[in-house]
Amino acid sequence: MDCLFCKILNKEIPAQIIYEDEKVIAFNDINPQAPTHCLVIPRKHIATLNQIEDTDQELVGHMVQVAAKIADQQGFDQTGYRTVFNCNEHGGQTVYHIHLHLLGGKPMGWPPYQEKLKTAVTQ
Ligand code: 5GP
Ligand code: ZN
Repeated sequence: MDCLFCKILNKEIPAQIIYEDEKVIAFNDINPQAPTHCLVIPRKHIATLNQIEDTDQELVGHMVQVAAKIADQQGFDQTGYRTVFNCNEHGGQTVYHIHLHLLGGKPMGWPPYQEKLKTAVTQ
C-alpha cells in the first residue's frame, strides 16, 4: 500500500519515534508547529475519521490517552496542549492514514484560522 505513515510503521521511512506499543506509534512531525509536535497513529491503516468503525472505538480512545501520556512525559500536561484530527480537504488533511496531532510547549491561539475566516467574510 502506498501510504507514507504505513511506511513509517514498517520502518521503510525513518522517523523520530517517541512512543510505541502494540496498537499505536507516535513520532515527531517533520514540520513542527510547536516546541513539541508529534503524531499518534494506529498500526491499523484507517484513511480518515470517516472510516472509523464501531470496533475501532477503543483504538481511537487509546490514541487520545497516549497523547495525554506524552504530554505528561514532556511536562506540559498541566500548562496545556492541543490535539487535532484533520479530516479530508477542508480539514487540512494531507496524509490519508489517521493521525492525532499533539502540540505543546507554547500558548496557542484560538480559533486557529481566525484571520482567514475574517478575510472570507469581508470579501
Ligand atoms: P495532516 O495535514 O494530514 O493533518 O498532517 C500531516 C502531518 O504529517 C503534517 O503536519 C506534516 O508535517 C507531517 N508529515 C508529512 N510527511 C512527513 C514525514 O515524512 N515524516 C514526518 N515525521 N512527518 C511528516
Ligand atoms: Zn497507512
